Order: sequence, then C-alpha cells, then structure tokens
Amino acid sequence: MKNIILIAPPAAGKGTQSELLVKKYGYVHISMGDLLREESTKDTELGNEIKRLIAEGTLVNDDLTIELIRKKLNSIKGQHFCLDGFPRTIYQAHEFAKVLEELGNPDYIVLYLDLSKDAAYARINGRLICSCGKSYNIYDENLKPKVAGICDKCGKELVKRSDDNAESFKVRYETVLNNFADIKKFYQEQGKLETVNVERDVMEIFHDIEKVIVDD
Ligand code: AMP
Repeated sequence: MKNIILIAPPAAGKGTQSELLVKKYGYVHISMGDLLREESTKDTELGNEIKRLIAEGTLVNDDLTIELIRKKLNSIKGQHFCLDGFPRTIYQAHEFAKVLEELGNPDYIVLYLDLSKDAAYARINGRLICSCGKSYNIYDENLKPKVAGICDKCGKELVKRSDDNAESFKVRYETVLNNFADIKKFYQEQGKLETVNVERDVMEIFHDIEKVIVDD
C-alpha cells in the first residue's frame, strides 16, 4: 500500500477521508493542522504566535512545519502514513523530499482533493469540530452529528474552528490558489499526482481513493 499525501483547499474533506483510511487500512493519520493546533495550546511565545496565525488563516513558518513532520515520521517509522495538509508551499515540498530520502524513500501518492471556492465556503459554514479530532458538517446528511451539537464519538460539545469564518477563509483559499499550482506541477512531473473531485458523496470519493492507493 502506498503512503498518502492529501493536499486540498479548506474543507475539502482531508480529515474525513483520512479517518476512513485509518479505519479500513490502518494508516497513521498525520494532520499538520492538528500538529500545529496542539503546539498552539502551549502557553509560550511560539504557541501564541501559531494560534494567531491559524486564526487569521495565514501559513505558519515553513521550517517549523518541516521539523514537526520529520519528528513525527521518525516516530512512526515503518508504518503507512496518511499526511494531510502538508506540503502547502513549494519550499515545504522540496524539503519534504529530503525528509523522505532520510527515511529510505517510502512509496507515496499525492492526492489533490478538488472542489470549487463556493463549495468550500459552504462547507466551512456548516463545519463543527470536537476536541477529540472528529469533524462534522450540519448541512451534510452523512456528516451530521446524531444529536445536534454533540460528538457521536465521545459525547463532548461541538464547536466552530477559530478559522472557519469569512475573512480567514478568504486568506486560506487565496493561499491555496497562490501555492498549489507549483506544488501540483512538482508532483505531476514525478508521476505522483492524482486529482480527485470531492464534490460528491463521501463514500464515492473514498472508493476512488482506494483504487489509487493499492500497489501496482
Ligand atoms: P488545516 O487544519 O489543514 O485546515 O490547517 C489549519 C491551519 O494550520 C492553516 O490555515 C495554517 O494556518 C496552518 N497550517 C496547516 N498546515 C500548514 C502547512 N503545511 N504550512 C503552514 N501552515 C499550515
């Protein structure tokens, strides 16, 4: 099975698809957003700076993200990983290639989850999250919590993400537009890129992903 790198505009369903991959295939899910949110809870200068950047929708410093990934991948050596939200700049993509080399060049595929700006914004408006990591969407029958406002998995209260608002969305989406063309080209040239249309049913998307992760 191939390792997976998910790159996508905000609210494309990286977390939802990762959860399905973990459940069915035992992938280790690494979310750069989650790693950074964890760092942001620390009451340090760096923690507070990350918290501010995330709320604004601005990217966090490249070198910090690369260090977090290096550390995480070294800690799960030998296990299949599904990486979500990294790389988000071409510099991160180049540095990540070096990290993979250090790890013995594990095989991987990059999936670009494609959805329009309008669809992404509609999803942002309906998204609620739990501190346990599970994400919901109140406008999607398949992704709604069973009890309004409560996590199905752990029973805690659901909240809106600090960056799920109109201003932050605009910054995040523009960042994608500015950076992703180069990143996609970089992986396309290596024959590593697959584009998946995600304006469809969650399970339909998952079945398409399953077709490309099996080894040839
Ligand atoms: P996500 O949970 O993937 O939507 O990411 C939430 C936020 O974390 C982003 O809007 C950025 O502020 C930050 N972030 C996530 N991944 C990266 C990355 N690869 N590089 C820099 N910042 C990131």
